[in-house]
Amino acid sequence: MMMIININDLMGFGKLQDIKEELIVERIEKLKEKKNAIILAHNFSKPEVRAVSDVVGGSSGLTTGANETDCDMILICGVNFMAEMVAVLNPDKKVITPGRGGVCPLAKQLSYEELLEAKKEHPDCEVLLYMNSLAKTIALADCVCTANNALKIAGTMGDNSPILFGPDLGVSYYISKGTAKDIISIPDYAVCPVHNKISVDKLTDVKTAHPQATIVAHPECRPDVQDMADYISSTGEIVNFCKESGKKEFIVAADVELSHMLQNEVPDKTFYPVSESLVCKHMRISTLVNIVDALETEKPEVVVPCEIADAARIPIERMLEFS
Ligand code: SF4
Repeated sequence: MMMIININDLMGFGKLQDIKEELIVERIEKLKEKKNAIILAHNFSKPEVRAVSDVVGGSSGLTTGANETDCDMILICGVNFMAEMVAVLNPDKKVITPGRGGVCPLAKQLSYEELLEAKKEHPDCEVLLYMNSLAKTIALADCVCTANNALKIAGTMGDNSPILFGPDLGVSYYISKGTAKDIISIPDYAVCPVHNKISVDKLTDVKTAHPQATIVAHPECRPDVQDMADYISSTGEIVNFCKESGKKEFIVAADVELSHMLQNEVPDKTFYPVSESLVCKHMRISTLVNIVDALETEKPEVVVPCEIADAARIPIERMLEFS
């Protein structure tokens, strides 16, 4: 009588999954070598995606990574404005993004037309845009900035008139508080739907439970949440701060993935997320499977029309020069 053996019973389902993942990772490494490709991933990407990436960082780290590579192909795991930024900085390389590509809801909140209108209304103002903007809109700006370099870049602008800044009210507040510059927010309602969910009440609950913990926050948080924080900066700078700080416990007012990442990287300290449900699903679209697919098919390709890319490159390069 023939006996049917189920491989899952022999190995345990979890173990089989591990082997499957190992094979996928091996395939990704081979494809990267064959195509002379690198992978860039945002800090909020899934951990297994970060593990196969050559550059992991916030918008600032990814911009530098995209600007300094001499590979032939770049695969970007993040959202649309990051993919566009990589394509703008690398017109001679193939840029691809896995899955159908994440769309940042914040970047959609400032349209080209709205910025054009604001520039007409305030002809003397310089325009600084948060990197979380679409390339077509960035093409109208004088400079862009990330959470990491916003204060430094804004400090070089707006000496004689207010700075037109968009699209995030949290970052607007962070800049005006940190530089004492006059800021006109465009539009006057745009927020990151993930970081804006963090309320003072929720943060107070976590602080009450862990009174000794240091609060670190992303500048996309609401102004009243920023006012409660001990340290505010980009994801990359929050990681550095927590590693270098003499403190042992931190409350992380940002996407929960940052707390998880910190806990892994700094196991001798403790990180409390404000809520486990603070997840940017747009940043989680990349998976190991769709990375293999994108590298094999070299699709979907990120294409920014030439005239937009040429114009958007100027404010992005200006930021790189200043930072
Ligand atoms: S965390 Fe906020 S700003 Fe960042 S991609 Fe998600 S929605 Fe956009």
